[in-house]
Amino acid sequence: MSALELEDVNAYYGNSHILYDLDLHVDQNEVVALLGRNGAGKTTTLRSITGTIPRREGRIDFRDESIVDDSVDAISNKGIKLVPEERRIFPTLTVQENLMLSRDSCKGESRPIEEMYDIFPILDDLRGNNGQNLSGGEQQMLSVARALVQSPDLLLLDEPTEGLAPVIVEDLEEILKDIVSEDVTVLITEQNVEFALELSERAYIIESGENAWDGTIEELRDREDLLEKYLSVG
Ligand code: ATP
Repeated sequence: MSALELEDVNAYYGNSHILYDLDLHVDQNEVVALLGRNGAGKTTTLRSITGTIPRREGRIDFRDESIVDDSVDAISNKGIKLVPEERRIFPTLTVQENLMLSRDSCKGESRPIEEMYDIFPILDDLRGNNGQNLSGGEQQMLSVARALVQSPDLLLLDEPTEGLAPVIVEDLEEILKDIVSEDVTVLITEQNVEFALELSERAYIIESGENAWDGTIEELRDREDLLEKYLSVG
């Protein structure tokens, strides 16, 4: 069953046309990577799905129902949760308060906060610490936990490894592997291609807001030409 389906999606910031006839689909319980260079349009694609962009057109279906005319809140209430690149946590609230606020603002089903501490043991030790006193890696864990406590059906991860130390990236990879083995569908954007390939089953490459390639991760691993041309990995 298709969880998410984008067809001929165009997106704009004011007069700037950013996405051109973009097609993409993610099946239920699938993990799909959205790859491309800086500025290719990955974040804009995620914002088109969550509705947080001034203007987008085309077909965007979630579980075979159109969400393209839905409000940002309505889309979130349907179970689509974004972990944004800029890690939106509350700096003057504690880890526990950040999680509680996220849980309580969720209209649908939520998960117990204690479960988040089982998944992210590092946060367990930091329950009483303010968001602003966490390291970049800890903030990223909290940002993912804030999305996860809302029991998402579709989790959108925007460059989760951005700015993280390699050892933290490894921890995050292990945690996300556990999460994706559960009943959750994931679309992940990354510039750290190796990280994305480790987690995903299929990938899309976009370039200047257009589809450039899509296929399985096994296919992509053999395509050094693509990795070099679109992803600066060689
Ligand atoms: P990055 O890794 O830099 O986030 P990306 O692939 O996610 O890259 P986007 O952030 O989607 O790319 O940006 C796509 C294009 O849209 C870029 O040319 C960018 O300059 C432009 N853009 C992004 N946000 C805005 C905005 N708020 N207003 C105008 N143009 C924007």
